[in-house]
Amino acid sequence: MLNLSGASDTSHETEARHTQLLILGSGPAGLAAALYAARAELGPVVLTGIELGGQAALTYTIENYPGFPDGVGGAQLGELFQKQAEHFGAQVVFDTAQTVDLSQRPFRIVADNDKYTADALIIATGARPNHLEIPGETELIGRGVSYCATCDGAFFKERHVTVVGGGDSALEEGLFLTRYATSVTIIHRRDSLRAGAVLQKRAFDNPKMKFIWNTLVTEVVGKEKTEAVKLKNVQTGEESISPTDGIFVFIGHTPNTQAFEGKVKMENGYINVDDRMNTSVPGVFAAGEVADSHFRQVITSAGMGAAAAIEATHFLERETG
Ligand code: NAP
Repeated sequence: MLNLSGASDTSHETEARHTQLLILGSGPAGLAAALYAARAELGPVVLTGIELGGQAALTYTIENYPGFPDGVGGAQLGELFQKQAEHFGAQVVFDTAQTVDLSQRPFRIVADNDKYTADALIIATGARPNHLEIPGETELIGRGVSYCATCDGAFFKERHVTVVGGGDSALEEGLFLTRYATSVTIIHRRDSLRAGAVLQKRAFDNPKMKFIWNTLVTEVVGKEKTEAVKLKNVQTGEESISPTDGIFVFIGHTPNTQAFEGKVKMENGYINVDDRMNTSVPGVFAAGEVADSHFRQVITSAGMGAAAAIEATHFLERETG
C-alpha cells in the first residue's frame, strides 16, 4: 500500500493529486473495480476507507465465493483482491474521503490525509452495521456490546452470549461464536428466521445455540460491562431480564453515503445506479452495498465493481475519442 501524502512535494497541502479514476472504498466492489481499471491502464487510485477490505474482511470464513471449495477467510480474500489489483498497477492508499464536489469535472475529493481530483469516480463505500438504538447500547460498546463476532468473539470464551437478528449474519456470526462461548442465544423479533436454509439447519443442529422468538431487546444492562439484556415479548407484551456476558447485534446495514447526500440521486439512503452502474452524475459510478440493498453478497459486489470499472473506462475513452 502506498502513502501518497509523502509522495508529492511540500505543496501537497494545497495541491490536489490528480488521477484519471478514483475509487472510494476497498471492499470487494472497490478492489474488483481497481483490478479492471488497472488492466485498462487507467492507473486507478483506491482510497481504502477506515476498514481495509470492507465488511467482508471482518468475516471469518466466506463459503460462497466461487473458486474456494473449502471457503476462504474474509481478510485473506481481501488481501488477494488487493494483491491482484496492485499487480496490474492499482494504487491502494490508506485514506478516507470526507467531502466530494461533483458539480464540475475534474471531481474534487477531500480525504483525511490528502486532496484528490479525478476525471471519473467509482463510489464503493459499502455499508455499516445498524445499531439497536436502545438504552445502554452505545455506553457498553467494547464492554460486551459488539457488531463483529470475528473481531470480539475470542473475548467470550466459556461465556454466555446473546445475538440479535434472524438473518444470515446473525446465524453465521452466532455459529462462529459457539467456538468460544458456552451458549449462544439468538433473539429474534419474529417466530421464523430470515436466514438461508443451510445456515438454519446448522444453527438448529448446534447444541450450543438457543433461540428466543417474538422478542425485542429493549435495554442493555450493566455498569462497567454488560450484565444482562431487558427483553419484551412482542405478542404478550411480557418483559423479562436475561443475564448475558455479551450482546452481538446483526440487524442489517446502512449504506455509507453521508458524503454524497444531495450530490447524486439516492433512494432509501442507497445510491441509485442504472444497469451500467451510472449514478445521476455523468462520470460518477457506484458499486457494491452502497448501491445495492438487495443482493449484498461478495460476488455481486465484486461484479458491480467490475461493471463500474468497464463503464468508467468507456466513459473516459469516449472523451478522448
Ligand atoms: P438482514 O438479512 O437484513 O437481516 C437482518 C435481521 O435483523 C432480520 O432478521 C430482521 O428481522 C432483524 N432486524 C432488523 N431490524 C431489527 C431491529 N430493530 N430489532 C430487532 N431485529 C431487527 O441482514 P444480514 O443478516 O446482515 O444480511 C444482509 C445481507 O447479507 C443479506 O442479503 C444476506 O443474505 C447477506 N449475507 C449472506 C451471508 C451468507 O450467504 N453466508 C452471510 C451474511 C450476510 P426480520 O427478519 O423480522 O426483518
